[in-house]
Amino acid sequence: MTDNNKKLELIELTKRYILQQKDIYGDVLWGNFNLENKINKRKNAKYSSLEEMYDNVKDCQKCGLASTRTKFVFGKGSGDAKLVLVGEAPGRDEDLKGEPFVGRAGQLLTKILNAINLKREEVYIANVLKCRPPNNRDPVESEMEMCLPHLNEQLKIIKPEIILCLGRVSAQCLLKTKMSMKELRGKVYSYQGIKTLVTYHPAALLRNPQLKKPTWEDVQFVRKLYDDE
Ligand code: SF4
Repeated sequence: MTDNNKKLELIELTKRYILQQKDIYGDVLWGNFNLENKINKRKNAKYSSLEEMYDNVKDCQKCGLASTRTKFVFGKGSGDAKLVLVGEAPGRDEDLKGEPFVGRAGQLLTKILNAINLKREEVYIANVLKCRPPNNRDPVESEMEMCLPHLNEQLKIIKPEIILCLGRVSAQCLLKTKMSMKELRGKVYSYQGIKTLVTYHPAALLRNPQLKKPTWEDVQFVRKLYDDE
């Protein structure tokens, strides 16, 4: 058999294996998360702790939002959380306080976490952007590109088992997709070798209470994965 034939046979076998896995796991995108996670955990973080990282990045000037922010909003929670929640960007309250999810949406997020028996202190909460876009406008692509390395470093330090993206913007940014929220929910993805799921941003729930039911389904699924880890 020629080298080319061997390659084609290998591709065919791999394809068959993937299809078998999809049959077994249905809608849940499969992946060898444990293996990927182990590889991820072997990667050295640039900083030894979140505190050290904070001291080094709190004066970040990489994008224009540095000149309009009141406070840099790093993130808050447990440094060895199993679950990291990732929102889009700080809003007005967060910008003033320097903490993520402290306004009305943040209070709702606390209730959602409590409903699945988690306290805020047990998880880690951050945003893709560490500085507030003026008037809460959507982050632009270049700002997210500049800021995403900060989140990636945080993930290397925390080494969570699960990431929950809160809202379309953070999900599309992490998963490099343009899929809608409806398409994104209900599946398990992999970001940096970490199981990653998507649900609505709590601010969307405040605007549209009908989203509470699907969000409840999403967070119950997250809790199940959390317990399985
Ligand atoms: S948004 Fe991110 S990249 Fe831009 S200045 Fe703030 S911390 Fe730096």
